[in-house]
Amino acid sequence: MNETSETNQAMVGGCLCGAIRYRITGAPLFVSQCACKDCQKATGTGHTTIVGVEEADLHVEGEPKIYTNSGDTGGAVSRHFCGTCGGRLYTTGDLPGSVHIVQAGSLDDPNLVTPTSAIYLKDAPHWDRFDPAIEQFQEMRPRPAAQ
Ligand SMILES: [Zn+2]
Ligand SMILES: [Zn+2]
Repeated sequence: MNETSETNQAMVGGCLCGAIRYRITGAPLFVSQCACKDCQKATGTGHTTIVGVEEADLHVEGEPKIYTNSGDTGGAVSRHFCGTCGGRLYTTGDLPGSVHIVQAGSLDDPNLVTPTSAIYLKDAPHWDRFDPAIEQFQEMRPRPAAQ
């Protein structure tokens, strides 16, 4: 493993039963807490913590099952999960810049990432709590200008 700096350190993770494993080789693009309705239903939690990574930086071993529906903006959203244990792993879809979104809780060491924003707070259940120190958005985090 190439450990030239902390941000180049590969992050590894997988599902609960271990049938599917992944490795992230690049630095995360963003880390957010998402309280949208789909995240609540898909994970059974008040919100999920997501890590945006470049598609080329996510290396998956094993065959996740995939469920696709349409997201808030109408584009296809595909959730990848383990067909054996049900563990949520990552999300792909009609997102800009081939960004894949990894579920932070599937990391072997979730403490490697730190959320900097919370999104879709309009949908958050009243019993969930968010760090008031991080950026808060009622809907989608505004996207950086197109590159
Ligand atoms: Zn599994
Ligand atoms: Zn969400």
